[in-house]
Amino acid sequence: MKIKLLPEELIAKIAAGEVVERPASVIKELVENSLDAGATRINVTFLGGGVNYLEVSDDGRGMSKDELKLAVKRHATSKISRIEDLSQISTMGFRGEALPSIAAVSKALIISRGEESDEAYLYKIYEDNEPEAAARALGTTVKVEDLFYNVPARKKFLKSPVTERRQIISTVELLALARADVSFVLKADKKIIFDLVQSSLKERISKILGKKNSEGLSPVNFKNPFISLTGFLTSPNISFSNNKRIYLFVNNRPVFAPLLLHAVREGYHPFIPSDRYPACVLNIGISPELVDVNVHPTKKEVRFVNQNGIHEIVSKVIKDEISNTSPVMNIEISQKSMSKPFIGRTGYSSEKRAKVYKVKESPTKYLDNIDLARVTKFTFAAPKWEELSKQEGEKPSGSIIPRFQWKKKYIVAEDNEGILVIDQHTAWERINYEQLKSQFKKNSLQVQNLLIPEIIELEPSQAESLLNRIELFQKFGIYIEEFGPHIFKVTGVPYFAGKLKSHQDIQDMVEEIINSIDETENTPEVENINDDIIKIIACKSSIKAGDSMSDEEVKTMIAMLNRCSIPHRCPHGRPIIIRMTEKELDTKFLR
Ligand code: ADP
Ligand code: MG
Repeated sequence: MKIKLLPEELIAKIAAGEVVERPASVIKELVENSLDAGATRINVTFLGGGVNYLEVSDDGRGMSKDELKLAVKRHATSKISRIEDLSQISTMGFRGEALPSIAAVSKALIISRGEESDEAYLYKIYEDNEPEAAARALGTTVKVEDLFYNVPARKKFLKSPVTERRQIISTVELLALARADVSFVLKADKKIIFDLVQSSLKERISKILGKKNSEGLSPVNFKNPFISLTGFLTSPNISFSNNKRIYLFVNNRPVFAPLLLHAVREGYHPFIPSDRYPACVLNIGISPELVDVNVHPTKKEVRFVNQNGIHEIVSKVIKDEISNTSPVMNIEISQKSMSKPFIGRTGYSSEKRAKVYKVKESPTKYLDNIDLARVTKFTFAAPKWEELSKQEGEKPSGSIIPRFQWKKKYIVAEDNEGILVIDQHTAWERINYEQLKSQFKKNSLQVQNLLIPEIIELEPSQAESLLNRIELFQKFGIYIEEFGPHIFKVTGVPYFAGKLKSHQDIQDMVEEIINSIDETENTPEVENINDDIIKIIACKSSIKAGDSMSDEEVKTMIAMLNRCSIPHRCPHGRPIIIRMTEKELDTKFLR
């Protein structure tokens, strides 16, 4: 084979593959260009999932007629010119690759009016026309149509429009958090997703994270000669089941940095449970020579000269700040897990709990027909030990005799063969999972209506994703209605998820289901999505470590577990029961 230089067009397409992965990456690059052009107001508009049409328009410096053609050439940039500049980058872009890459895989055009010009010019990149006079005020609009029309392979890897749309919204959210001093308007299919005016960072955070999550934000303001840390930390009273709300920036550039994520978690560590994640918006200001942003084509990864030092500062600053603002947290955590019978464990007052009303097939009229006698009798969905005994005419637990609950985590029991230790959470997970699954399969999922609907507030990107999936949620017995901008009310949950009562459990469940659908889409795992959703519901509605259980509940649990088809492993594969036989003990004691 002969070595030959590739044609320019092919080079451009190959390069585009690195920068332009999906519609959201186009939007990211275009918005970054607008920010670099000093825009104070940026409008992002798109249709569907952004593939057919997207547009970013700004009031920045704009480009002259001559610059238009140059801007789309590879390695054309106004941001750096000498090798030394690479170590001093203060703009979002510098590689001169975004516009040519976008243009190589779509039908794009630019309309721009530069500062020195009275006229705007329209340049249809895909036709390579001579820029023609057009109308617009100072600034730039880039319109991108038919993304990947000439790269079918890439198109195939895109997810559904709902998911691509969520990615776009997340991308703009992230940039909007990076620059509260800039107005952002985001429109999808003519609907305004958000309209954020220039504001303080605190206000911006509350617009994106939601009012409730932004209660008790504490500011971070740290500075030494090498590094500054600014932003806000959410109260440790609020925590999440994933790290998606940890927003990190380096010199205002959104970054993906496992090192920093770890540092944030470590800083919060003493104040929130170890399986939970905080939310925060943190910008690390650092001299450009001490950080390399040129590690990744999309510039989202960064490398610090002194990794350990940065980690230490971030975690320490957070730890200090949180302990200053909420010195009682440790005590609160231990109070919360103080002994309470598990039915009363949910964070509901007993009156409110009593109102959690039993099953009705149609959850829509959840306020009608309240049968008070039944309401007060209602405890939790699992059948009682005695009922099971009656049904089966024998002790349904086989020969397992529960002895005591240990550390509010394990049930110590015995049977003929030895001593058993049962993990209370995985046991309930298995029980709930099998119940839900069999009901789901038979199409007979029963719904428990919440008399007082649970109100949950989501981020705009999550809200859009949920809005498009309300019916899917219903299939799983979760009834949700839109209640306000990015606010929803949950009016019904699967009956068997009767223990799913705390606000946090419901919010976590909804978010995890949305995330799981978005993540598995277009991957081989998508076939398991129904099962995954059932697993999430089962998990969130199960007793957790730290919950007390009455003797009655322990017996019920063992009885129910005994009826499961796979009683030894939870749906995620963790063990449920560990047995120490007499023989094993004898060996250990050298008998
Ligand atoms: P880079 O941002 O790395 O310089 P791009 O391909 O994204 O490369 O953009 C090339 C050049 O086009 C930029 O350096 C800038 O001069 C110009 N440009 C792009 N978008 C805009 C815009 N919205 N407003 C003004 N100038 C722009
Ligand atoms: Mg750029």
